[in-house]
Amino acid sequence: MKIGPEYDTLIIGAGINGCGIAHELSKRGRSVAVFDKGKIGGGTSSKSSRLIHGGLRYLEHLHFGLVYEALQDRTELTHSYPDLVSLVPFYLPIYHNGPRRPVTVWTALKLYDVLAGRRHKRHSRRVSLDEFGSSFPNLRKDQLRAVFRYYDGRTNDLDLTRRVARDAQALGCRIYEQTCVQAVRISDQIIEVDTGDGTHRAKTLINATGPWIDEVIARLHLPTRFGIRKVSGIHLFLDGLLTPHPMFLQTTSKRIFFVIPEPKQCQTMVGTTEREETAPVDDVGATEEDVRYLIDHLNRYLVSGARVRHEDIRDVSIGIRALVASREDPTDLSREYQLDLHEQGQSQLLHVFGGKLTTFLSLSRKAANLLRL
Ligand SMILES: Cc1cc2nc3c(=O)[nH]c(=O)nc-3n(C[C@H](O)[C@H](O)[C@H](O)COP(=O)(O)OP(=O)(O)OC[C@H]3O[C@@H](n4cnc5c(N)ncnc54)[C@H](O)[C@@H]3O)c2cc1C
Repeated sequence: MKIGPEYDTLIIGAGINGCGIAHELSKRGRSVAVFDKGKIGGGTSSKSSRLIHGGLRYLEHLHFGLVYEALQDRTELTHSYPDLVSLVPFYLPIYHNGPRRPVTVWTALKLYDVLAGRRHKRHSRRVSLDEFGSSFPNLRKDQLRAVFRYYDGRTNDLDLTRRVARDAQALGCRIYEQTCVQAVRISDQIIEVDTGDGTHRAKTLINATGPWIDEVIARLHLPTRFGIRKVSGIHLFLDGLLTPHPMFLQTTSKRIFFVIPEPKQCQTMVGTTEREETAPVDDVGATEEDVRYLIDHLNRYLVSGARVRHEDIRDVSIGIRALVASREDPTDLSREYQLDLHEQGQSQLLHVFGGKLTTFLSLSRKAANLLRL
């Protein structure tokens, strides 16, 4: 087998986390190569809800640290990638018989403002029912109790991942697409990684394979301290613009879903679902039940002339969240990540479990700080 050049670090997975770590290590002067079995950003990093957010609903589960860190990352991303990440208004209408009262939502929003820090000037506020009614003609006004508006980040996940990859490449990082890692050998001196076109060598190997991580660990016989639970989420892309601004709505069972207009494509994105998956990642697909779930909940809020039909669906996408394994209910799990480092002589193996698009900057810095460079 052909022996390639030796690098400081090899990374499996060119999603946002693999590319983010590659960029961070390249900035620190390390030679890095990344392998992806598909295209840059072709995994979960192009199937997200495209929100750069602290995660308002994690406050309900008291994950203050996670929300705070993500909000700091959000601020940094709006400064570092102003053309790709921007703050936009989100509306939160609260209806009678909904699972949360206006005072609960208002309190969470004020806490969210505080956690965003003093530099964050776009504070949440209450919106009058008249103002909401005239701007959102497709939404029901009966039973409406209160409406709030707050700001959060939007991006294009695939463009962001490609940009981070390009920034890493500009610093000398090599990214091999359509290159599946098939075998790994770890000795005290060196790590060897076999791909279809040769063997690559480095002292450090990073496994950033997102929801594929358990399958990769099992296939490559790698040591690990964690595992993941896979929770799928679908997005519907509907013809036309249902609302003028993004909004969050509540299901009867305390879950939330969003409706986000995409004016450039003249479409509306609706998401998302949460379903635990046991099949291999590549075998998971959207089900009719997932699609029905979103359409039924959405239609409960729309005036009769605006209700969505199956024919209005342009596209459906599905992604898999990699939640660090726990025995809790999947909807209660935190999106917190774990960096799992294994050392053997001079060799180091680092697994990246979990994480969000929003937190890739802090995750990448922490990963680089953990390694012996
Ligand atoms: C429905 C949904 C909505 C979400 N919404 C948001 C959101 O709004 N905001 C947010 O911050 N986060 C969101 N997330 C989370 C976020 O999208 C992910 O945490 C993030 O994209 C994970 O990136 P990653 O680099 O770890 O994994 P991935 O992007 O999945 O990258 C892993 C890569 O590894 C590659 N790979 C796998 N096996 C091999 C192999 N053997 N050899 C070579 N390559 C391999 C795959 O091809 C893939 O490209 C969402 C997730 C989902 C599923």
